[in-house]
Amino acid sequence: MELLRKLSEAHGVPGYEEEVRALLSEELERVCDSVEVDALGNLIARKGSGERRVMLAAHMDEIGLMVKHVDTKGYLRFMPLGGVVEQCLLNQRVLVHTSRGAVRGVIGSKPPHLLKEEERKKPVKLEDMFIDVGAGSAEEAEKLGIRVGDFVTFERSFAELGGELVTGKAFDDRVGCWALVEVLKRIEIDAQVYAVATVQEEVGLKGARTAAYRVEPDIAIVLETTSAGDFPGVKEEECRVKLGSGVVVTVADAGGRGLITHPRVRELLVGTAEEEGIEYQLEVVERGTTDATSIHLTKTGVPAGVLSVPARYLHSPVEVASRKDMRLAVELCCAALKRWSEG
Ligand SMILES: [Zn+2]
Repeated sequence: MELLRKLSEAHGVPGYEEEVRALLSEELERVCDSVEVDALGNLIARKGSGERRVMLAAHMDEIGLMVKHVDTKGYLRFMPLGGVVEQCLLNQRVLVHTSRGAVRGVIGSKPPHLLKEEERKKPVKLEDMFIDVGAGSAEEAEKLGIRVGDFVTFERSFAELGGELVTGKAFDDRVGCWALVEVLKRIEIDAQVYAVATVQEEVGLKGARTAAYRVEPDIAIVLETTSAGDFPGVKEEECRVKLGSGVVVTVADAGGRGLITHPRVRELLVGTAEEEGIEYQLEVVERGTTDATSIHLTKTGVPAGVLSVPARYLHSPVEVASRKDMRLAVELCCAALKRWSEG
């Protein structure tokens, strides 16, 4: 789990994935035949030779914020990058990533003593939030190195919970990045396996589009996280995915407007899981999609599917996932690729 810890604690919002790319590049260089970075910043590693090409993809970026204004009192105003839940931001400790290094800050709020009765009942809106870095003025903030456009992430360390559960930030999709490395360490098949760590997924599935164009794969599998619903307040019929119940195979996402998994890929993933006795869960979701949506529409089309590790509280700084599901995701991906290469 040391690699997952490092990946979760690394910082990289869409467009600024350097830290994550450096970690993955180091890992993939050890086990791949070639590693390159494309014009947008996607990391593209290849292992093996052969006629056919498979693309595995996981995105490096995490949701975060960007400084959009520093006011005269030194407080920072910000814009969200990706699907940020406003209520998750309040009272978080954050890091503002400046050209001179990270500056610590907090997202403040009114204490109960200052809240009026009607204010107590309403959630605080994003436009009313601010980051306090301890600067007394715009000039002091500038002296700390802070500029408009600096990106901001949660300051949160990785930790273990009970059983096989772990918690941290950016599991979406550093868990997928971790699985990508683990698969490439193990995989030995007669085909070219491309491991692609993509940029800017959270703001429009961007990196996957150019990377797939470059790789031109015969088939693609995206390694992701997906929402689990096994906690108070979520009904089974709303979300049937549970932690510790196995790797998730997507059948369709975004109400079918994102990805409808190619029947051949669905059969490959489900058939392999059945044959190998790998615990899995099927998923059909109305909201949310992945890089597979971009990849499958590349050039003349790429049959694509998604293997996900279920996680609770996605896009919060306290995402929770199970090590068991992570192992099963790696296992199913390796077994499916083996079956595909022999088919
Ligand atoms: Zn994701």
